[in-house]
Amino acid sequence: MKILQLKNVYKDYKLENKEKFTALNDINMSFEKGELVSIIGESGSGKSTLMNLIGGLDSDYRGEIIIGEQDLKNFKQKELDDYRKKKIGFVFQSFNLIPHLSVIDNVTIGLTLSGVKEGVKHEKAIALLNKLGLGDQIKKKPTQLSGGQKQRVAIARALINDPDIILADEPTGALDSTTTLQILDILKDIADSGKLVIMVTHSEKVAKISSRIIEISDGKLVRDEKNKDYIPNLQKNDEIYETDLNKNSDINSVIKSELNKEETTQNSQAPNFDEAKIKNKRKNKKNKEGHLSILSALKLSIHNMWASKVKNFLMAIGVSISLISLILMLSFGAGLTGYISDQALSYSSPNVATITKRGSTSIVAPKSFTDEEIADISLNLNEYLESKNSDFRVVTKNEDEYDYNLSYGFSMMTGFGNGSSALAKIIYQPEETEDEEEAKPKECPIFYSYTTPPYYNEKHLLTENSSICGDGQIMLSSAAAKAMGIEKIEDVVGKKVILSINLPELKAPIETEVEISGIVDVSMFSGMLVMYVDYDYLNSRFKENNDSKGLSPTTLYITTNNTKATKLINDYVSTQKELSGSLEEKLVRMFDEMLDTFSIALTIIAGISLAVALIMILVVLYISVSERTKEIGVLKSIGARKKDIKLIFSTESFLVGLLAGITGIIFTLIIGGILTLVFNILIGFAPIKMMWYFFVEALAISIFISVLAGLYPSAKASKLDPIESLRHE
Ligand code: ADP
Ligand code: MG
Repeated sequence: MKILQLKNVYKDYKLENKEKFTALNDINMSFEKGELVSIIGESGSGKSTLMNLIGGLDSDYRGEIIIGEQDLKNFKQKELDDYRKKKIGFVFQSFNLIPHLSVIDNVTIGLTLSGVKEGVKHEKAIALLNKLGLGDQIKKKPTQLSGGQKQRVAIARALINDPDIILADEPTGALDSTTTLQILDILKDIADSGKLVIMVTHSEKVAKISSRIIEISDGKLVRDEKNKDYIPNLQKNDEIYETDLNKNSDINSVIKSELNKEETTQNSQAPNFDEAKIKNKRKNKKNKEGHLSILSALKLSIHNMWASKVKNFLMAIGVSISLISLILMLSFGAGLTGYISDQALSYSSPNVATITKRGSTSIVAPKSFTDEEIADISLNLNEYLESKNSDFRVVTKNEDEYDYNLSYGFSMMTGFGNGSSALAKIIYQPEETEDEEEAKPKECPIFYSYTTPPYYNEKHLLTENSSICGDGQIMLSSAAAKAMGIEKIEDVVGKKVILSINLPELKAPIETEVEISGIVDVSMFSGMLVMYVDYDYLNSRFKENNDSKGLSPTTLYITTNNTKATKLINDYVSTQKELSGSLEEKLVRMFDEMLDTFSIALTIIAGISLAVALIMILVVLYISVSERTKEIGVLKSIGARKKDIKLIFSTESFLVGLLAGITGIIFTLIIGGILTLVFNILIGFAPIKMMWYFFVEALAISIFISVLAGLYPSAKASKLDPIESLRHE
């Protein structure tokens, strides 16, 4: 029974200069089951070309290569893949085992590509390996085997899908004479079991053992003769391959019936509509069980990654560095923002709305409000509050001298120049001492002068003996207190000092004795020389000095006792061009803007480092593809589809991303922990806030860039030409 026919087959190779080279010239021959055919001929005569055509690795030929009823040339890609997977088994001179897979995984790879279950694969492979005398070698890697053993593994791999045809291109070319005989014996057994075995050989000696010898010379068939002396290995027929594979075991019958099912679906021609539907249904079912599963792809990828674990680990560390910086940056951003807004919150009060003039050159010299402006603001605010159905109304001191809720504040930078020329300073006369130097009065400049906001209470004080300043009193920041040269800041409380204020609008400097009532907590400005004084007290000093022209307020405080009303007032203020919120709010906003700029810069840096990571992964995967060109060729010759190759490589890039992500997260946790510790020791708080979703984001980014980087290499891998890949060294 003819299972393979070649009719007038020509193969032309196109050369670079548009010439063509005819490698096969009018080949006619047919083959039957059970033949052991040797193809001989000089190097370059066209033997491998012929094998590649028969094996479906090359469909670019003239003439007909008929398998069953169909010409190979007319096979669709999918049919061709299936043909290689199910009908053909390749054996190569250089074995072409996949180095990172164990013997058993190498043998089962064809079944893995068909999506056969683990247990089934295993049993079938063990049965074959036992028969080939390799039962005790299944866990070994190819490098741990001898040449003969390798070739037997390759033969097992070729047989695993129970193909009709075994194509062996110089299978004994790399073996010594004893091993050659063993391998030939095995091939003979396979032929005896009813398969067609076609092998290419140089050696006339080897050819003599076969049942038929075909000689090719310069692409032409010059000899095709039966070997009359051929004796089948009949004595071994109790153990021949096909019987066992097809009939004896349940597993085999399962696989066989699956394969047959596919054949029927493929070969049924000109289906009517209903049949097409059924065919589709069957196809879908087959797709599920008939192809490389994601799990198997994962397993293959893990094996390969493990084989080059140092490289992969280093790459993961490289990628994880950009992830670490990304997460840490986000954590710093969140930590700092959180810290600043906490500070701001602790600094203002939910029941006091603060209004300043916008555009006053920020903190340096705030603009002051005139009485008319204050009246206007109060009027407009009340209209707004009414429109928003709030019961709260602003009452100015002019309207009700005892029951007002709009109070004044003043703030100004007073620390220009050096110590003695500051606009505000305190002069402290130390207690009597022998030391002349120490006995001199101390002048301490005040960098920033505030009046006490209405919401200031004990919480804003630093020492137990402090109290909020009233008439004839001031409060100092801890830095200002330390500047007086007294060791303990507690001891500063209660001291009398001269307060000297020399603003341009004053006729003469105000010089007045005041008592220090307390040390005030200015938290984030604790390093600054800050003074607080009561507004009414300061106002009365101004009036005395300045022909009863008082202190013009730079800040308005509206005490609401109702957070909703506070919020409404703040909302209103934010819509007014000429108004803005409190100084703290301004500072927070300024800080936020700084942080935003900083974040943009850091994001750009992170983006660049991620791009570098992406290119790094791309390069490594690209190199990996060229390193594994041969493996890809082998997989294709076994029947791997483009999709399967793509899946294997994409899975690998996914794993790289996952590995890098996990490495990055672990390192970030370690580094973040250390940083938190160091910050706590150095400055008492850690501006690092790690949110769980930063890690999720980093992992997602890592996987995304890896998969993205893997797209090109895996596409390239899937498009490799199998013949060229197999020739690759
Ligand atoms: P062999 O009998 O040694 O296996 P091949 O079938 O490999 O010979 O090659 C047959 C002829 O075809 C050789 O002359 C070879 O140079 C040529 N050939 C093989 N592959 C190609 C190719 N891809 N492009 C051009 N010429 C090729
Ligand atoms: Mg060759």
